[in-house]
Amino acid sequence: EGLRVVTDVVCPFCGTLCDDIKVVLDGNRIVDTMNACIIGNEKFKSAQAGHRIMQPLEREDGTTEFTPVSYDYAIEKAAQILASAKRPLYYGWSSTSCEAQEIGNELAEVTGGVTDNTASVCHGPSILAIQTVGAPMCTLGEVKNRADLIIYWGCNPIHAHPRHMSRYTIYPRGFFTERGFDDRTLVVVDPRPTDTAKQADIYIQVEQGKDYELLDALRTVTRGEDIPDVVAGVKKEQIKELAEVAKSKKFGLLFFGMGVTQTTGKHRNIDMAISWTQDMNKYTKFNLIPMRGHYNVTGSGQVMSWQSGFPFAMDFSRGYPRYNPGETAANDILLRHECDAALIIASDPGAHFPVEAMKYYAQIPTIAIDPHYTPTTGISKLVIPSSIIGVEEEGTAYRMDNVPIRCRKVVDAPKGILSDEEILRRILNRVKELKGIPAGQ
Ligand code: SF4
Repeated sequence: EGLRVVTDVVCPFCGTLCDDIKVVLDGNRIVDTMNACIIGNEKFKSAQAGHRIMQPLEREDGTTEFTPVSYDYAIEKAAQILASAKRPLYYGWSSTSCEAQEIGNELAEVTGGVTDNTASVCHGPSILAIQTVGAPMCTLGEVKNRADLIIYWGCNPIHAHPRHMSRYTIYPRGFFTERGFDDRTLVVVDPRPTDTAKQADIYIQVEQGKDYELLDALRTVTRGEDIPDVVAGVKKEQIKELAEVAKSKKFGLLFFGMGVTQTTGKHRNIDMAISWTQDMNKYTKFNLIPMRGHYNVTGSGQVMSWQSGFPFAMDFSRGYPRYNPGETAANDILLRHECDAALIIASDPGAHFPVEAMKYYAQIPTIAIDPHYTPTTGISKLVIPSSIIGVEEEGTAYRMDNVPIRCRKVVDAPKGILSDEEILRRILNRVKELKGIPAGQ
C-alpha cells in the first residue's frame, strides 16, 4: 500500500540497455526493481546510496582535504580553468545522455581541446577495424528473431551483460526461432572456462593472446584450405568443426568483447573477425556485434560522429577536428603530458586507467563531474556532483547495436543537485563569455 510501480524503465548500466525494467517507489524512494539483473538493480539503488556527493567540492594544491563550495563558484572556476587552458582533455561520456555529450563536444571545440570517450580503452580497436574493413552488423531484434548460431568470442555476458542471453540470444523465442533455446547453438571462445562457456554447446579454449591466429585459421578452413594440426592451442578438427557448424546454420552472430579488443593484436583481431564474418556470407547469413560496455558509450560515438565526423579521440587543438588514436586518445595525451587541464565526466579513469596516466592527471587543474565519490573524484581539484541519467533525469542513449532508446526519469534528484546537461551548458556559456565568443555561435 502506498507503493507505486513505474514500468518500461530503461536500465542505465550496460550496453544491453534493457528497457523492460519496473521500479517500485515509495514516494521519491526506490524500494525495489523488477526484471533488472543484479548490477542494474544496484545502479538504481545507488541513487540513494550513502556515497552520493551532495555539494561541489574544491581541493587546494598539495592537500587532500576538500572544501564544500557553491555550484556558482564551481561552475565559474571550471570555466576559468578550461578557458585558460591551451589543450584541455575531456574524457568519459559513456554514462551520460547524448544531450550532455553534445554540449561536451562543443565545449571541447571552443576551448581547442581533445575529447575522448571510454571506447579508447574498450571497443576503440573495434572502431578502428570497422573503419578499415567494414561492419556487417544487425540489430538485436534480428538476433532474437532469426539467429540459430550465437558465438561469444572473448566476452562473458553472464557477468558483464547479464540479461543479454535471456533477452536476445539464447533463450528468447523469436519469430523464426519459436523453440527458443532448442533452436540455437551456442559457441564460446575464451581462454577461461567462464560461466558463459559452461553453457556452451561448443567451447573452444584458445590460448591467451592467440585470437588472431585462431581467427585466421578459421577463415582459412572456411575457405576449404588446410591449416596446421594445432593453432592457438586448438586442434585442427575443432576449428574445422566450428567452420562446418557455422556454414550449416541459417543466421549466425559473432559477439565479441574485451578478450579480443584488449589483447595482443587489438584492432587486427577485429579486422580478422570482420573478414571471417564477411566470408561467411558466401555460405549463409552472418553478422557481428561488439559487446559495447557502458549503456551509452555507443551514443557518445554517434554524437561525436554526427557533430564532427569522428567517434572518439577527437582533437580540436588545430581549430578543426582531427582523429588519430595512438596520438589523440586520453591515455596517449596523459602519458605524454600533452594536456594542461582535464574534465572527467561519467567515468572513472582513476580506477581504470594506468597509474602513470593518472599520476599526471593529479598534477594539473582537473574537474570531475560525477554523482558518486570515486577514485577519480578523490584526485581531482574540483568535484561537481550531478544527477543520474535514467534514474533522476531523462536522456537519449544508444544500445550496443546503435538503436536509440529514451531513458526515463523515475525519481527526483536530491535537492539542489543539477544534471550533467545543465552543468555543462552553464560552463560552456561562461567559457564563451570568457573567450569573447558571441552567444549563439
Ligand atoms: S543486463 Fe545490463 S542493461 Fe540489462 S538490467 Fe543488467 S545491467 Fe541493466
